[in-house]
Amino acid sequence: MINFIGRSREYNDHLEGEVPKDLERLVHRLRWPIYLESTPNIHLACYFGEKNYANPRAQFPYDMPHPGLDIQANQGTPILLPTTGRIVKCKVDKIGGLTVGVYDEENNLAYVFAHLDARQPPCELIEDTHTKWNSPYFLEAGKPIGKIGKWNYELPDFVNIPGEVLAIYGREFHHVHFEIMYINPRQKKPRFIEGVDTLNPLLLLQKLKY
Ligand SMILES: [Zn+2]
Repeated sequence: MINFIGRSREYNDHLEGEVPKDLERLVHRLRWPIYLESTPNIHLACYFGEKNYANPRAQFPYDMPHPGLDIQANQGTPILLPTTGRIVKCKVDKIGGLTVGVYDEENNLAYVFAHLDARQPPCELIEDTHTKWNSPYFLEAGKPIGKIGKWNYELPDFVNIPGEVLAIYGREFHHVHFEIMYINPRQKKPRFIEGVDTLNPLLLLQKLKY
């Protein structure tokens, strides 16, 4: 049984979007970046394309469409790699904690995992913020990429938190921001820019019935 709470129940309303032809064979095939069965109180708090309400810099609901999926769970929850890939980018910042980029060359995919715990590996692996496309740091599908870190901000008052979520997490918002992007193999220089060329992750992640 998946223990979904709050906005997670809107999952079926957020399955729209398109994927490039190269990726059609992966539709609803990827494993989730979180243990669905054993993680308590999983909250799909902000879906792809929605207003990114959690941005602490915003004084008002932020109007840039959200380029990923925010999965709220307890601090320390393991986050997993959906397919085998290499760690190509790590950076640490005050808002985001640790951000890790992973490139899956075989499937023309890249992932971004943000707001992870910066005290955990792999943040020491790659020091600067440039993308190391040939990094030797391979990680197999299903292996932990890190753990959910500490989100240092309370959600502002304008964020309408479902009562059930408020009862469990209050206004804390420890979560992983998960992006999937398509890396066009016909482009000479692959691009890896967060929030650009991103896909709705729910289109590739295994379809949930709950
Ligand atoms: Zn996010």
